[in-house]
Amino acid sequence: MTKELDWSNLGFAYIKTPFRYVAKFRGGKWSDGELTTDDTVTISECAGVLQYAQTCFEGLKAYRTEDGRIVTFRPDLNAERMAQSAARLEMPVFPEDRFVCAVERVVAANRQFVPPYGSGATLYIRPVMFASSPVIGVKPAEEYEMRIFCTPVGPYFKGGAKPITIRVSDFDRAAPRGTGHIKAGLNYAMSLHAIVDAHANGYDENMYLDPATRSFVEETGGANFLFVTKDGTVVTPKSDSILPSITRRSLCYVAEKILGMKVEHRPVRLSEVKDFAECGLCGTAAVISPVGKIIDHGEEICLPSGMDEMGPVTKKLYDTLTGIQMGRLPAPEGWVREIK
Ligand SMILES: *Cc1c(COP(=O)(O)O)cnc(C)c1O
Repeated sequence: MTKELDWSNLGFAYIKTPFRYVAKFRGGKWSDGELTTDDTVTISECAGVLQYAQTCFEGLKAYRTEDGRIVTFRPDLNAERMAQSAARLEMPVFPEDRFVCAVERVVAANRQFVPPYGSGATLYIRPVMFASSPVIGVKPAEEYEMRIFCTPVGPYFKGGAKPITIRVSDFDRAAPRGTGHIKAGLNYAMSLHAIVDAHANGYDENMYLDPATRSFVEETGGANFLFVTKDGTVVTPKSDSILPSITRRSLCYVAEKILGMKVEHRPVRLSEVKDFAECGLCGTAAVISPVGKIIDHGEEICLPSGMDEMGPVTKKLYDTLTGIQMGRLPAPEGWVREIK
């Protein structure tokens, strides 16, 4: 049974679904965890998350396949990344096998909110962990809460994937040896001003550079870059302060192992961006969002793929990965997990 919703006109706003998973960390161990209908959280005004932003999260999706099955895409990598985020923030690690299991329980319990195949909509899953006990002196909290909830989201591209315009930001996203490589809310809090300012000036996104030299490309606020050279090589920027996107890693695998393309993961200079043929932003939300134009302080870099549609290589990568996610194409071992 699928809910009657106007799936293709859904946006990306929170819609409450009936069930979420909650586990609590107390006395040095995680509770068994359970599904609940309570979407509220009651914590001390002095909770670690509120004082010192001790929180991290994940984002993944459940898809309805052509033959009506419900699947998730590589949730084990979200589990692994959340463990890395938690460890870096001195939070307890949530066991990776339990993470995957809990994600599947939440999706199964809310299965009527998994949008139908072909609607373009998907079920977005948000695991989040936060420090729930009071701290006033600066130190890690004693108690934590892990929640996994989900919300149906509409098609990212309504009426085709139109290339976007981005600007080189004067703000920095993440310091060298800082927290750029983990999925921490704090990385987003400080990017809000930059994105509001970018939108106010007519740009869709910010391209952040490496703060140390401001000469290498890092990523945007929430997506990794993927470039294509004029001779068809896929190039993705390498830096310790970039968040390791599961979508980007999957696209590179698809390019190399399935499509037989050349793939390079290496530092990318801002000065070489003008020589690329295509540019896209990779993340769970859009898979690939094509970039048509990059503005560097008044200087325009126009990608040859133009402002009308995705470039041909980007399109091929997009079609292949979404084909795998939706069950139209065979998936590499372990990528797609069916939820019964
Ligand atoms: C979540 C995120 C991404 C995209 O990662 P996916 O695993 O592909 O969804 C990219 N950059 C940042 C900063 C992120 O937080």
